[in-house]
Amino acid sequence: MRKLKWAADFIANSEVNVHNPEAYQGKWRELLNRDCIHVEIGTGKGDYWIGMANLYPELGWIGIEKQESVAALALRKKDTLEQQTRFIHGDAANIDQWFAKKEIDVIHLNFSDPWPKNRNKKRRLSNERFLDKYNQILSDDGQIIMKTDNRSLFEYSIIEFQNFGFKLEEIYLDFRSEQHDEDIISEYERKFMEKGPIYRAVWVKGGK
Ligand code: SAH
Repeated sequence: MRKLKWAADFIANSEVNVHNPEAYQGKWRELLNRDCIHVEIGTGKGDYWIGMANLYPELGWIGIEKQESVAALALRKKDTLEQQTRFIHGDAANIDQWFAKKEIDVIHLNFSDPWPKNRNKKRRLSNERFLDKYNQILSDDGQIIMKTDNRSLFEYSIIEFQNFGFKLEEIYLDFRSEQHDEDIISEYERKFMEKGPIYRAVWVKGGK
């Protein structure tokens, strides 16, 4: 995406964006005033994060996005501060510095970059390097929910989660062939659902 000139300033002035997430480690439930915290990693322009926060106001919603211009567009859509919703402009590789052990209840991965070349697999958000961090910050019965149009990434993720000891709880090979009003359609999802199936899986934290 083209770099937006106003993005850095916009993020710096946003009160929805948490500028020092490390300072809230262990305090997110208090900050959001919610017992159950959902995190979306890689929000893109924010439709899912914002839509789900509107649909489930009883839950806490934290969006994470590392690309500055995209993060600014998401924050522009959500410019009024509500207690249950926050944003972190940053790289999810640092997620274990922002959240304490067992602090998060659900992690959402929507249309994560597939990084198709094997030599780039460490960058995939479902690589074991990330799973190790998710495993630390998730509560005992915490979940990870993934949606993707990318069959190879989906196959890779099923094995990677399995090897890490996560339990596969739900699987859909064509999620949008039925109506799912309980789940918001993300930007990428809207584009891809016309072209082919949307894969979706829910994993529950295992014994590790
Ligand atoms: N979830 C959105 C966007 C999907 S594109 C949707 O479904 O429409 C994937 C997004 O993840 C990109 O915006 C990319 O910048 C972001 N992303 C990829 N790796 C990330 C990381 N390590 N930390 C934070 N965001 C990341």
